[in-house]
Formats: sequence, structure tokens, C-alpha cells
Amino acid sequence: MWQIDDVQSRLEELNFAEAAQLIGMRHDEAVKKQSTYLEFLGRLLDDEITIRKERAFATRLRLAKLPYHKTVADFEFPFQPSINERQIRELATLNFIHEATNIVLLGPPGVGKTHLAVSIASEALMQGMSVYFTNAQDMVNELREGQTAGRINKKMQRYLKPKLLIIDEMGYLTLDKAGATVLFQLISKRYEKGSIILTSNKSFTEWGNILGDQVIATAILDRLLHHSFTINIRGDSYRLKGKMKSRPPESSTELTTD
Ligand code: ADP
Ligand code: MG
Repeated sequence: MWQIDDVQSRLEELNFAEAAQLIGMRHDEAVKKQSTYLEFLGRLLDDEITIRKERAFATRLRLAKLPYHKTVADFEFPFQPSINERQIRELATLNFIHEATNIVLLGPPGVGKTHLAVSIASEALMQGMSVYFTNAQDMVNELREGQTAGRINKKMQRYLKPKLLIIDEMGYLTLDKAGATVLFQLISKRYEKGSIILTSNKSFTEWGNILGDQVIATAILDRLLHHSFTINIRGDSYRLKGKMKSRPPESSTELTTD
């Protein structure tokens, strides 16, 4: 005669840890409600599937290294009229990822570039995709280190594997020729294979200066922009929202950001 313990040990052997833990409760419930065999089994399997999905999501979220958690719903579109809300909502459906298209978010500090990138990343994570968020300078430093150590291909994998790569704050610091070269390699390797969301405070015409080389800048932009959406945000910093108006004109106190 089969007992709960017997089934539980089989579930454990199959690594159905959640089902093993809940079978006693689900069994009692089924007896009480006079459920069918199929309903009992279905519920138990759903318990296992739900917990596995939750764990997988938590792992993806941790590996994505997002700087903060924000969603499209948290974004105040009326504050930033230069942004086309419909376009952002369309991008958040993630069709661009299926087409390996890129998104470039341009604009001054505080206008919501990172927020929008993180929002789209959150959608991707929820839909089961892998994401990696990095700062442009950090990524270039990592790749350069990998190159020096003769392990560039291994280092590249971190930026090639994720379905969606976010390169934040391109252009805050200038790169040297070796840095620009590894960036070119990375962009070329993802070209038409995996989407990138890139944010920058510099316009494309300034990329020659950021990269210290007009030829490399042109080659990078050529691949980055071939299949892409560019969103130019022109507006005030959200960080300074309300702060500018509330100060008396004669005040010389410094404005704080966050
Ligand atoms: P940046 O363009 O410099 O990347 P962020 O996206 O990091 O700016 O925005 C700075 C802060 O302001 C973040 O906390 C972000 O969530 C918030 N923020 C920016 N724009 C908006 C907005 N339109 N609605 C709500 N929060 C915003
Ligand atoms: Mg930012």
C-alpha cells in the first residue's frame, strides 16, 4: 500500500522538491474536496512549475545586475513630452529583441534614459529572457583586462550571451584606441544576433571624440544603428524636478541630485 512518504521520496528522487513538500497538503485537500485524480496531479505539478519559474526569474534578475528596479508604469510620461509614450510601450512588447534590433537612448543627465532601459529589461526578464546591464566604461575595462590576460573570448561571452545587453552611460569618459577597438569587436559580434540598449549623453557626431578615432566611431555606429531605434530625449532632469522652481532667485545654494 502506497503511503504519502513513498510518493514523497520518489518526487525527491526526481528533484521535484516543491511537489515533495506539498504533497501531504495537496492530498488532504483532494480527499476533502473529492477532487479527481487528474485535478490532484495537475495542482501538484503546477506547484512545482510555479516555484521553478519563480526561482529562474530570481536568478535571471540577480545575474542581470540592474542598478535599480523601475518599470514603464513608474515613468511619468507627461514630465518628458519629447518621449513618444506609444513608441516606448511598443518597445516594451520586446519585438525588437526578436529582431535583434538595438535601441539608443540619447539625452542629458536625469531625463530617464537608464530608467527606460531598466524598464524594458524588466519586461525581458519577466518574459524569460536573459539580460545583462553594464556601464560602458566598466565593460571596456573588463574586455581590455581580458585581452591583456589573453582571455578576451572568454570575457566577451559575458556580453554576448545575454539576449539583451544594456550598455549605460556611453560617452561620460573618453576611450583610448585599445578601448575603442574592443568596443568595436563587441558591437560587431552582437550585430544582427543580439539586441543592445545603449544610453549616452553625447550625440553621434561626438562619437569620434569619445572614441578618439573617427574611423572606429563610424564603423561602430554603422553596425549599431543599421537596425535600431534612436530616442532623443530633450527635456529637464527629473532629479531636479521641483527643485529649480522652489528656490528663491538670490539663493546660491548648490542644487543636489538625489
Ligand atoms: P539618466 O537619463 O541620467 O539615465 P535616470 O533614468 O537614471 O536618468 O533618471 C534619474 C532618476 O529620475 C531615476 O530615479 C528615475 O527613475 C527618475 N526619473 C527620470 N525620469 C522620470 C520620469 N519621467 N518619471 C518618473 N521617474 C523618472
Ligand atoms: Mg543614467
